Amino acid sequence: MNWITNYVRPRINSLFSRREVPENLWTKCPECGTMLFHRELAENLNVCTNCDHHLAISPRARFAALFDGGVFNEVKVPEPVADPLQFRDQKKYPDRMKAAQKATGEKEAMLVAEGEMGRTPVVMAAQDFSFMGGSMGMYVGNAIIAAAERAVALRRPLVLFSAAGGARMQEGILSLMQMPRTTVAVEMLKEAGLPYIVVLTHPTTGGVTASYAMLGDIQIAEPNALICFAGPRVIEQTIREKLPEGFQRAEYLLEHGMLDRVTHRKKLREELVGILRMVGNLPAPVAGDLPAPGPIPAPAPEAAEANPA
Ligand SMILES: [Zn+2]
Repeated sequence: MNWITNYVRPRINSLFSRREVPENLWTKCPECGTMLFHRELAENLNVCTNCDHHLAISPRARFAALFDGGVFNEVKVPEPVADPLQFRDQKKYPDRMKAAQKATGEKEAMLVAEGEMGRTPVVMAAQDFSFMGGSMGMYVGNAIIAAAERAVALRRPLVLFSAAGGARMQEGILSLMQMPRTTVAVEMLKEAGLPYIVVLTHPTTGGVTASYAMLGDIQIAEPNALICFAGPRVIEQTIREKLPEGFQRAEYLLEHGMLDRVTHRKKLREELVGILRMVGNLPAPVAGDLPAPGPIPAPAPEAAEANPA
């Protein structure tokens, strides 16, 4: 400690920090650098209004945008053993968990819900990248099993949104065990003859890509999402070659037959409803966002969603 660290640096920091924008009101687009106002960004489903880059969206916000009227019921997920390995890196695992819970307001990295989308009953599960990188631990495994069991019990399709940096290293081998567990959960759906649709979002990597995220009957991805097992930097360093432009991005994977569709987030609801009704042998959706096969004319959801307040 000397006078530079104690006196000069805090003064310099305070000079600069005053000019910083409050983080909670503005988000900088990582792609084009545009400053996006939080309300405008939320109304646009966290898609950059300037360059169409798809920023991360919380499972709750995603469900609110997808389910009819934003109404859904959460499916209960069995609680796993907390911190089974007493893991500690720079921080204790329970402390990391608490920090993530405080930052996101969620219990864990996956949310499961049931409801109707375009009047089509469905179970949905969404992974939360902002919660410890969406890492797949025992809870995420339990969530996928709970989602699959619920879908089988109600005879509904399951739609899963993946976003993860991979397995949760704080749970060691127990996190890797979620790969076979979730694969069995997906198999339960297939045995019951129920559709399983995966929407891969940016980024979906590691053990998640190597298990439930790639086992969908229909594989959709959001534009420019990074989808890989090992990331491009690791591969480049290993093979010592420059990788092609757009390597491991959604469009590249679509071109090479790894995906069925790449769909803009704002078109996703319409597309999912269309697919679910088609594979569920239900009447085709009426043109527009919300299909109305029933006797009650449905209000235009565009108008309802445009004025959330
Ligand atoms: Zn942008």
